[in-house]
Formats: sequence, C-alpha cells, structure tokens
Amino acid sequence: MSDSRIQRRELLFGMGAASLASTSFSGALAQKAEGQPMPGNAVLPESPAAKTGWAIVGLGSFAIGQIIPGFADARRSKITAFVSGSPQKAAQLGERYAVRHLYDYANFDRIIDNQEIECVYIVLPVGLHAEYTIRALKAGKHVLCEKPMASTSQECAAMIAAANAANRQLGVAYRVHFEPANIEARQRLAKGEIGDVRYGSADAGFNANPDYPPHQWRLTKELGGGGSMYDIGIYGLNGALFHLDSEVIEVSAIYTSPANDPRFREVEGGLSWRAKLANGCVVQGSSSYCYSYVTRHHYQGSSGALSMEPASTYYDNDLFIARSGQPKALINTANAGTQFAAQLDAFSEAARTNTKHRTPGEMGLRDIRIIEAMYRSADSNGAAIKVE
Ligand code: NDP
Repeated sequence: MSDSRIQRRELLFGMGAASLASTSFSGALAQKAEGQPMPGNAVLPESPAAKTGWAIVGLGSFAIGQIIPGFADARRSKITAFVSGSPQKAAQLGERYAVRHLYDYANFDRIIDNQEIECVYIVLPVGLHAEYTIRALKAGKHVLCEKPMASTSQECAAMIAAANAANRQLGVAYRVHFEPANIEARQRLAKGEIGDVRYGSADAGFNANPDYPPHQWRLTKELGGGGSMYDIGIYGLNGALFHLDSEVIEVSAIYTSPANDPRFREVEGGLSWRAKLANGCVVQGSSSYCYSYVTRHHYQGSSGALSMEPASTYYDNDLFIARSGQPKALINTANAGTQFAAQLDAFSEAARTNTKHRTPGEMGLRDIRIIEAMYRSADSNGAAIKVE
C-alpha cells in the first residue's frame, strides 16, 4: 500500500474515532436536508454491535403494534430476545425481526446466561408485572416495565427493593415523558406562557369491549390490578403531574361505573377524581371504560389556557394555547411517533451508565399510591384522603 493511501486511511480512521466523541463532528456527518426538521440527527447512532440488547416479554397488541416497530428508529437499542407463551408467534416475530433468542415463561430465568440481553421490557398484563420484573432483576438485567407499574403499592415497593438489591435500573414506561407535544406543554407551562396555573383537568378513557382479548384481562382484578383508572386514567394523572411539575398532597374521588354492567364485577368502570397539588393547583379528572376514546388535558392560567387533545396517542397529539383576548392557536410539534424510540434509547442510556431513568420505579410507586388513595376515597363516598 502506498504511503499516501496509508495516510488517507489513518486520516479517515482518526476522523471516525474522533467523531464518536464529538457531537459537532457528528452534526457534520448528519444527513443534510433543507426545509425539513431533523430531530435526533445531532446524535450518531451506535453501531449495530454496540447497541444495548433488549428482551421483550409478552408479545401482545402493544408490543407487536408499537414497541417492536419503535426499535426501528432507536439509535442505541436493539431487540435481542423475545419471551412469549406462544412459541409459534415468537418464532414468526423472530424471523421477521432477525431475533434468534426465544424464551417462554418457564425458562425465562435462563436469560441470566445471555450477555446479549442487558434490558428487559415487561409488556405483560399488570398482574404479572411484579413477578417478571423481579425475576429479570434477579437475572441481573435492567427492567423497563409497562404502566401501571403493578397491582398494588406493596408490589411496586418490592420491585424497587429488587432493583436496589441487584444494583440495576428500574423504569416505568410513561412514554409521554418522551413525546414532543407533552414535553412542549411542560416547557411552556414552566415558562409561564399562560400565567399562574390554578386549575387543570384530565380525561382519559375508552369503551371496553368484553369480547376483545386485550380488554378481557383488563376487566379482571387478578390481571388488571384495578379498572379504568389503573389502565388509562393513569395517563391523565401522571401527565398532569409531568406537565405541572408538582406532587399530589390530597385526593378525593367517586366511582362512575354504570350499575349492573356485567363488565365491572371486579374492577371499576369509571372514576371521577380531584387532586390538590403541592404547588396550589387543583386538577380534576376522569377515567372510564364506558365512554368513547379520549385523552385530554386542559390548564387554565391567569393569562390564558393550554390544552391538549388528543394528549397521549401514539402518533398524533395536538397542543393548543389561547392567550387572553387571542384566538386559540395550534402549536406545531414534532412527530409523536418518536416517543417510542426516544424512551427506549433513554432507558438504554440509563442502563449503560447505571443512572436513574427519567421515569423511574419510584414514580410508578407514587402513582399507584395516589390511585389507591383515590379508591379509598371513592370507597368512602368521596372523603378527602391525604397522600403521604
Ligand atoms: P395484550 O393482551 O394485547 O398482550 C399481553 C400479552 O401478554 C399477551 O399477548 C401474552 O403474550 C402475554 N400474556 C402472558 N400471560 C398472559 C395472560 N395470563 N393473559 C393475557 N396475556 C398474557 O395486552 P396489551 O399489549 O394491550 O398490554 C400489555 C401491557 O402494555 C399492559 O401492561 C398495558 O397496560 C401496557 N400498555 C401500555 C400502553 C402504553 O401506551 N404505554 C398501551 C397499551 C398497553 P404472549 O402470547 O407472547 O405470551
């Protein structure tokens, strides 16, 4: 090889190594596009070999429809294993996504021997979250667990204790913390764009179909943990606390389940709630398994209002601001679909650095404690209950 060719190779290699450490160089490498946003291009993707390996546990509608496709845009995360009770489904998905490590629920603990799995994503019915999270932590893996974190606050506390004992990270998959419109809402409220916020509302629900398998387990106490407030009302609660950057100090609630509806023998079909926040704001909300699909937030401030509807869908959320005396304006934000990869990559980073995820287990426990307080209030006809 001629000297000049060697020099050229060394130069290129040197530049490549430097680029991994330098964001400005990675910016230069980023694809050039004019007239279109390029979210994420400032960060170079990891090479496929260096990406953090994930096992997906439970190949149901959300895993197949949203999480697994979300890896396509991930820059630091890749799927290395599937865990399923259905060998045929796991094999088919394994073939489609080139994932060769397949486990079932009986041999799940063998993931301890698989160094290609660093993170485990629990996408099972709620009643199984605690068991599989703790098993994965005992196998030395970091765990991202779907919302709601578990059936009871005792289970949540046991999951956190298991993470601490294993010195591994535990996160709860509150994806809207990674969704552009929700992040923008929080930033605009913090900047005081609508003045002092005194009042908020949050509604989240859908009409549960007892013939649809993913809804069937949600209607049981054993696998659902709770009812509409656990499953979808939690978006309204957690979202409001995220947007307003505050904590709940007191709640009251009443059940709104229709009488004698056979769907709601075990869990509530609806809950109407009110929460006093530490920052002086009051938020009220509803969750339901009986109304048509909605996810909505509204905040009324001293000089305007901010609202989101839809607020927590997978691919399209809208954020509006109405300043006093001006018409309501739609605020453009980036593609909501980026929330899945952003959440995965943030958790991969938390795992690699062994630092707290943005939405850690403690946040999941906090929310279950608040909902348990709401249930206690509803059981006592709406009595005010302090949240510790
Ligand atoms: P599904 O019923 O569609 O999927 C659950 C999967 O869990 C099943 O397909 C099955 O996978 C596995 N499973 C293992 N044991 C059982 C059992 N006893 N009964 C039923 N399923 C079992 O539910 P979803 O995908 O809708 O929900 C899964 C999780 O994701 C829940 O925690 C839910 O709250 C959460 N979720 C979060 C969303 C979000 O926006 N963050 C949206 C939707 C759901 P297999 O056949 O592979 O064993």
